[in-house]
Amino acid sequence: MLRKTIFAALACIAVAAPAGAATITAPAPARPAADRPAWPDALKASGAAPVLKQARRALAGPVFPLAGRFSWGTFENAFGGGRSHEGQDLLTGCGTPVIAAMSGRVTENEFEGAAGNLLVVRVPSGENYAYMHLQEPASAKVGDRVSAGEPVGRVGQTGRASTCHLHFEWWTAPGWYKGGRAVDPAPRLRSWLGR
Ligand SMILES: [Zn+2]
Repeated sequence: MLRKTIFAALACIAVAAPAGAATITAPAPARPAADRPAWPDALKASGAAPVLKQARRALAGPVFPLAGRFSWGTFENAFGGGRSHEGQDLLTGCGTPVIAAMSGRVTENEFEGAAGNLLVVRVPSGENYAYMHLQEPASAKVGDRVSAGEPVGRVGQTGRASTCHLHFEWWTAPGWYKGGRAVDPAPRLRSWLGR
């Protein structure tokens, strides 16, 4: 209960993007690990090494957690946001696919009053990534592995959200309300966008 009380106090309230706000299209997500093709040796020897290197990096993740156009919103949607906002809001239409940014194991899949439908994934470094306000509960269960690039849900407006958006959090090890701390994910998000 304590955790939920704390969390509710840090509730996320996104505001709608101002009219004419710049929108950005996230790159298409990489395919999940299980669906990766093997690189033929002939291709490796063909001088396409830089292209292959780039492709492998995209397949391994991290990848941007949305497939589709979105907006960074305003100051209030940023980390901090003048209101102890622990993540970055990515404003986009409800139903937009939410993509696992990095491979890892699901540690939370639940509904909370503030977060709505919430998914938390622990990555091998022990860091956690959280995806909130999902339209429906994520299909991956606690303990399941998810792969970078794998769709894990859809953008929604569940919990305390005034518009459709993905609220994305990055927590240091040992993770989300387990002793880690929330860090501004925007620099990482921007770097993943440019990959
Ligand atoms: Zn938020």
